[in-house]
Amino acid sequence: MKILVIEDEANIVQVIRLYLEQAGYTLLSASDGITGLELHAREHPDLVILDLMLPALDGMEVCRRIRAWATTPILMLTARQSEEDRIEGLELGADDYLVKPFSPRELVSRVKAILRRSAISSIDSTKQPLAEQSGKGRADDGKLHFGSLVINIPARRVMVGKQQVTLTAKEFDLLVALASAPDHVFTRESLLNQVWGYTYLGDGRTVDVHIGTLRKKLEAAHAASPISYQIQTVWGVGYKFVPVISVSATPQDE
Ligand code: CA
Repeated sequence: MKILVIEDEANIVQVIRLYLEQAGYTLLSASDGITGLELHAREHPDLVILDLMLPALDGMEVCRRIRAWATTPILMLTARQSEEDRIEGLELGADDYLVKPFSPRELVSRVKAILRRSAISSIDSTKQPLAEQSGKGRADDGKLHFGSLVINIPARRVMVGKQQVTLTAKEFDLLVALASAPDHVFTRESLLNQVWGYTYLGDGRTVDVHIGTLRKKLEAAHAASPISYQIQTVWGVGYKFVPVISVSATPQDE
């Protein structure tokens, strides 16, 4: 497993290297955004640890450019206390973040959790733990059907009508978790456990932000076809996926 660290503070890189190499990972490092992007393109790392404050090209822009063409998991490091910065990073497609100063052990466990999730995602199509519960709309082919929305779990592909919806790994896992158990109310904590794979120490905002970007992408994709479900917010609790029978839908696909 190859991990790329993009960070300009040499002593932080040194600590990260020490701990992650001890955990059995191969470390690559870049001390500015441009070099980081070049290394990412050349080496195809399994995970990127990305600092926000970088010379040449800042972390947000690096994140945006990686996400433009790759789904490599990204763990952001930020010294910024502002919630907006963390939310912006998550909206740009970072999978998780750590606020500096962080404990190296915490970093290692986050890295392991993210890699475990992405390993499960890329394992062959036969085993899909997240969708083991049978839900309405579940067919034997590993697809969940809700009107024009089709979630192909083995292929990790979401279609709305004929349009493919590009989701990040976390958005896809969230959608599968919710849609696998229609009408079931998930707490933020249970979604964090199920999708992020560990007991999250931060707040439920991580889930909220990913739900927000997931809704936006699905809504945009539904411009041309009727929506047959809702991802509902259950105030004070969490979220649920609710299939909706559209009364005004005209059968055009028959
Ligand atoms: Ca920095």
